[in-house]
Amino acid sequence: MSHILLSLRGITKQYGATQVLHGINLDIMKGEIISLLGVNGAGKTTLSSIIATLHPPTAGDIMWHDSSIYNDITRYRLKLGYCPQRPNLFPNLTLEQNLLFAGRLYGLNDAEILPRVAKLIKQFELEKYLQQKADVLSGGYKQRFMIARSLIHQPDFIILDEPTVGLDPHIRRQLWSMIKELKESGITVLLTTHYLDEAEKLSDRVCILEQGRIRLIDTPEHLMADFKQNNLEDVFIALMKATNHA
Ligand code: ADP
Repeated sequence: MSHILLSLRGITKQYGATQVLHGINLDIMKGEIISLLGVNGAGKTTLSSIIATLHPPTAGDIMWHDSSIYNDITRYRLKLGYCPQRPNLFPNLTLEQNLLFAGRLYGLNDAEILPRVAKLIKQFELEKYLQQKADVLSGGYKQRFMIARSLIHQPDFIILDEPTVGLDPHIRRQLWSMIKELKESGITVLLTTHYLDEAEKLSDRVCILEQGRIRLIDTPEHLMADFKQNNLEDVFIALMKATNHA
């Protein structure tokens, strides 16, 4: 039986007179990979950054273990990993130093952090860069390292914001298998992506946002069957056409 990890209730976000999210209700299930999809401006980043507690909603709540995350936001943050879209590494620190810094931010001491560093560096195949400055990493390795860093405090839920944007196809595929391995290790993953192939390959469910509202939530397989399409990209295009002609 599936269990709910997070329950978003009536999440609304308003910037001045502009309402960006209109009462989003969404359950995120434990152990799933769920993708947020939608055209530019649909509200993906706003929603994922609210879930990441980067800023609060104007109204609504997020329930976690039967209480609001806002009742004990620190405890929630200790279970949450966040990998932003733009690299925010310390370029002049080595990978090891970057990881130590990240771990200390979560209140861990070096004796706790170092074994995790060893594990993550191996898991993400970054051994030869451990003592190199973050600056030397290529885009793909940087992204890989950012994901590794967001796991330093062993979260059970991770948010990846456009993790493969701008990367070469073979590098994207390497990241896909690493993301799948996260799921296999029991971590729940929320992904925002522009790439429909990525969402199709990785997601248990996709949530399509449209102008700050949920248009559809379902498995890629159901959506492809419902729309009689062979891939999620064609589903998305059919959906956009239906909207524009409505
Ligand atoms: P997406 O990630 O799907 O492209 P966003 O969440 O970035 O969408 O943006 C949704 C809408 O909210 C857009 O119309 C954007 O202009 C608006 N928006 C986002 N951040 C702000 C902000 N800080 N102030 C005003 N409007 C914002």
